[in-house]
Amino acid sequence: MNKKNSYLQWPDEKGYFGKYGGRYVAETLMPLILDVEEKYKKIRNDKSFNKEFDYYLKKYVGRPSPLFFAKRISDDLKGAKVYFKRDELNHTGAHKINNCLGQILLAKKMGKTRIIAETGAGQHGVATATVCALFNLPCTVYMGEKDIERQSPNVFRMKLLGAEIKPVSSGSKSLKDAMNEALRDWVTNVKNTFYIIGTVAGPHPYPTMVRDFQSIIGKEVKKQIFEFEKKLPDLLIACIGGGSNAIGLFHEFLDNKEVKMIAVEAAGYGLNSNKHAASLSGGKPGVLHGNKTYLLQTNSGQIKEAHSISAGLDYPGIGPEHSFLHDNKRVKYLSATDKEAIQAFKYCCKMEGIIPALEPAHALAVLKKIVPKMNSNQVVVMNMCGRGDKDIFTVAKALNIKL
Ligand SMILES: *Cc1c(COP(=O)(O)O)cnc(C)c1O
Repeated sequence: MNKKNSYLQWPDEKGYFGKYGGRYVAETLMPLILDVEEKYKKIRNDKSFNKEFDYYLKKYVGRPSPLFFAKRISDDLKGAKVYFKRDELNHTGAHKINNCLGQILLAKKMGKTRIIAETGAGQHGVATATVCALFNLPCTVYMGEKDIERQSPNVFRMKLLGAEIKPVSSGSKSLKDAMNEALRDWVTNVKNTFYIIGTVAGPHPYPTMVRDFQSIIGKEVKKQIFEFEKKLPDLLIACIGGGSNAIGLFHEFLDNKEVKMIAVEAAGYGLNSNKHAASLSGGKPGVLHGNKTYLLQTNSGQIKEAHSISAGLDYPGIGPEHSFLHDNKRVKYLSATDKEAIQAFKYCCKMEGIIPALEPAHALAVLKKIVPKMNSNQVVVMNMCGRGDKDIFTVAKALNIKL
């Protein structure tokens, strides 16, 4: 494939993936972002940085995560062979730590002495607090008041790890507002602070940087599936909140045209219900958190609150690269409802002895519908991006079970 047709050429110099992405920030933030971009460009191909990153991924996170042939599910669905990429086995229970490690190592190289982050469900907050403890840097996590109430176990985890939680009471008191506050903090603490963003959102270079750190997932899959099948997978499936685990799986395969890709958004109570988190299926382009992308918004352009049973998919936007891949039809964006996710959650527990997070349970719900229509010589890889221990109370409530 020549470079012009390659998906890997994106973003352009200004951080655009086609029409999406870019850097829509206050002037006061500009020097900071440019500094991050410049330093990131430097370390991206730097041997000593990559060696250190690699060391911690192996010895601290536990990479490479296994690729597992889900035989019982494959037998049951009677179509393609199903494999799980087991990123739920990572330290802290999800893929988020891959990115946090990359960013904190960059922060250290830049001489920063204070870390800030935003969190919704608390998973990114926990991963950030974890690497801050590891590298002995003070950590402040912005979290909406509503989320603090909903996610008290993760709030306690972050505190145990030494982080300071800053409750955010503006707007809808959830993730979007926490991200606004973190950006505000960053502007006022220019010199010493590094902002670790949790998904492929935010101003350039964040969507690219987070993607690069997460692309370890797809790189490993490419090698691992070859050992099993001696070929590329026919289909990749992942769930989508902001889009970091999905692009992490997809990126390495974007130029392999024969590999199809499906990303699954959260349809909440249904796409027609007004209570969902499907930014691509139910939103339109706008600007939020420093980039242009598909957003859930009202006719007058107000950002709408997202809903999903899975707190990690509950974001009204989506990474700009996904908006680009959507418009180009390289990736197909489907959705699963709360109910379908719960069914898939239960199915996975019983069939494979794996309690999945509610986020990948959305991907599994779509996989269950598609695999029976495929052939037995075809191969599907799904990213099992998180474990479900955090979700058992939510699931019990949805099933009307008292614990
Ligand atoms: C945070 C989270 C997500 C959503 O974030 P992405 O950036 O879309 O990957 C999905 N799954 C799990 C387990 C998470 O913790």
